[in-house]
Amino acid sequence: MTYGIIADIHSNLQALEGVLSVLQRRGVEGYLCLGDVVGYGPRPNECCELVRELDAPGVLGNHDEAVLNPGTENWFNAYAAAAVLWTRALLTEENADFLRSLDEQKVIGDLTLVHGALDDPWGYITAPYEATTTFELMSTPVCLVGHSHYAEWYELNANSTRARHVTATGDRTLTLADGVRYIVNPGSVGQPRDRDSRASCAIYDEEARTIEIIRTPYNIKACQQDMLEKGLPPALAYRLMFGA
Ligand code: ZN
Repeated sequence: MTYGIIADIHSNLQALEGVLSVLQRRGVEGYLCLGDVVGYGPRPNECCELVRELDAPGVLGNHDEAVLNPGTENWFNAYAAAAVLWTRALLTEENADFLRSLDEQKVIGDLTLVHGALDDPWGYITAPYEATTTFELMSTPVCLVGHSHYAEWYELNANSTRARHVTATGDRTLTLADGVRYIVNPGSVGQPRDRDSRASCAIYDEEARTIEIIRTPYNIKACQQDMLEKGLPPALAYRLMFGA
């Protein structure tokens, strides 16, 4: 089985359509979604509907959760909170129900899915020491995470206590080795922050034991214009072109 892996779509329809056309062309047989379908961007309903059509096992993101629960936006910075309030007012009941149906963690075969980290679904893994608890808690060889919006992975050998951190900007393929465990972030579809503005996604090939990280150019200008027309904070539109 091959899976397309998507994370942190953030209501960016152009980026989502871009990665889905690549994943469809590559003939993936299923999809996995690591949360934050909404937040920041201008097309929350369209993105929810596209993800629902994929019938992808998925987990809840912190922006998804904030849109569902009034008051939680107070934990966010002013721009992100403004986008949460805007999204909450616009999201259809069907799409809110879809987000509400998502679990915080999920195990699919050799994979554990969580948005942030296994000890805290909204915790960030951006350095080896932050990966430690998730490595302790995971019961599968691979844990897939989103949240930081960095395409990267951490690998831990059976006889080692410190994980190796591999940044994966650009197209990179990870071949999973026996006896090594991995935490893999496919990068963000809709708001990359690793200084590469192209949309990011990944393909997991169960038989070949590979995870391929793929970057895809998309029409950033069209998304930015849509955000400005909808009155979303301009800073959120500008950051897209810097991958920041
Ligand atoms: Zn996110």
